Amino acid sequence: MKKVTLLFVLLPVTVLSEAALAQATYPGGNPPPKPELTEIWSPVPPKVEPGKGLGDAPSDAIMLFNGKDLSGWESVNGGPAEWAVENGELVDQPKAGHIQTKQKFGDIQLHVEWMIPVLPPERKGQDRGNSGVFLQGLYEVQVLDSYDNPTYVNGEAGAIYKQSAPLVNALKPAPGWQAYDIVYYAPRFYNDGTLAEPARITVFLNGILVQNNFAITGPTDYRMLPAYKAHGDGPLMLQAHNNAVRYRNLWVRKL
Ligand code: MG
Repeated sequence: MKKVTLLFVLLPVTVLSEAALAQATYPGGNPPPKPELTEIWSPVPPKVEPGKGLGDAPSDAIMLFNGKDLSGWESVNGGPAEWAVENGELVDQPKAGHIQTKQKFGDIQLHVEWMIPVLPPERKGQDRGNSGVFLQGLYEVQVLDSYDNPTYVNGEAGAIYKQSAPLVNALKPAPGWQAYDIVYYAPRFYNDGTLAEPARITVFLNGILVQNNFAITGPTDYRMLPAYKAHGDGPLMLQAHNNAVRYRNLWVRKL
């Protein structure tokens, strides 16, 4: 008796399921719709010429540093930028202070290469080659020789400083050149200044994902807890800590 009941229950369900599946797969019925219905032909994405080598600027990039002089840069205090230019590289100088681009940016793709010289072993923790790349002058992607240098993990290279540790330690030993490729989405604010959407950041260090669409919680600070204040576009800032940290091949694409 039980078996008979089960058959009656299962059979119609099976038949119905197949019919329902056919319906779900081809909502337009028979024959199924033409594949062209789901094709998009415009607008056509603009052509961008890739750089010659890996990490080289593509044709639509804005070069932030011309490799020759500091035009395009200024001190964060408003005066002229006082870093050195050597071998087509920007070099942090003692007491020169942070520098920033004169141009301001919102959402960007950013490429930056940096190098920390070999420092004596007594230089440890945050004192080992500290610098930083600040998006909109406020949000720091840490630069540090943390290849083999214990420190707080949200202060390692690849960290969003004091907010998010890198997913992995993808550094090369000093004095290797390291590359950041960053996708940055600026925060959005309501007219009354309150936060509508936090900044978001994805960071590749030497081609390896270290920040995956992290929602930045506010300006990065050494002591203070982050707290957003409304702002518009901002410069790209490089942090000075008197470590002779070098930068080269800095370019952005506006998104
Ligand atoms: Mg730093």
